Amino acid sequence: MSELPESRGSEKPPKATGPTGSSVASGGSGAGGSAQSPQSSDDKFQNPVAGFGVTFKAMFKKRLTEQYPETPKVTAPRFHGRHQLNRHPDGLEKCIGCELCAWACPADAIYVEGADNTDEERYSPGERYGRVYQINYARCILCGLCIEACPTRALTMTNDFELANTTRESLIYTKDELLAGLEEGMVDSPHAIFPGMDEQDYYRGLVTEVAPGTERQVAVSKGEKPSDRDSESNGSAQGVDA
Ligand code: SF4
Ligand code: SF4
Repeated sequence: MSELPESRGSEKPPKATGPTGSSVASGGSGAGGSAQSPQSSDDKFQNPVAGFGVTFKAMFKKRLTEQYPETPKVTAPRFHGRHQLNRHPDGLEKCIGCELCAWACPADAIYVEGADNTDEERYSPGERYGRVYQINYARCILCGLCIEACPTRALTMTNDFELANTTRESLIYTKDELLAGLEEGMVDSPHAIFPGMDEQDYYRGLVTEVAPGTERQVAVSKGEKPSDRDSESNGSAQGVDA
């Protein structure tokens, strides 16, 4: 067993020297030791005053506190919030189920299944529509790449930022939750396209309202009995595609 040198343990650590060559005390309670520099009497007075100066400046600034949720925050007009699947002016859906949004998504947050429209059940003016559409907000980073990729402007983003929830399932928004509501004069899909118009005309903006008789036609296709008022106002329903 080798012996420890006698001098170990009795040696004193060398004194650290400051930039000016003056010695600085080592050790102490702080991470960097309790280095102390001489403080002039001017500094002793000015430092607290400078600290209170910051407080006084803040007292006269506009308050940043948000009274949320009592007063909902107003976002910037182009804020990237919850998505929306848009409709044409007659209520048909703009989504054609092409999946370009899903391919563009860097977070793999979108799931789309397309399907064919038929004359009996038409959800969009063209050949295909989005039968299943889901966005997983546990993954989405609200980057907006999906809305840039959408060729029909079916997918846009709203200003709604209240997406937090307590379960993963509730963060997966389905087509029913994402599809835009019906505006005045729209009729919910499925229904026929505007008589005399084709898919191109929808994208040219030539269809600006629902075709007369569409409401009645939808009611009949569902086996409902149209109301007398509808019968009167939509007496010329024969012109609408079945
Ligand atoms: S906003 Fe970005 S992350 Fe969210 S679904 Fe669209 S592409 Fe994906
Ligand atoms: S939202 Fe747009 S990009 Fe996505 S499937 Fe529908 S049409 Fe295609």
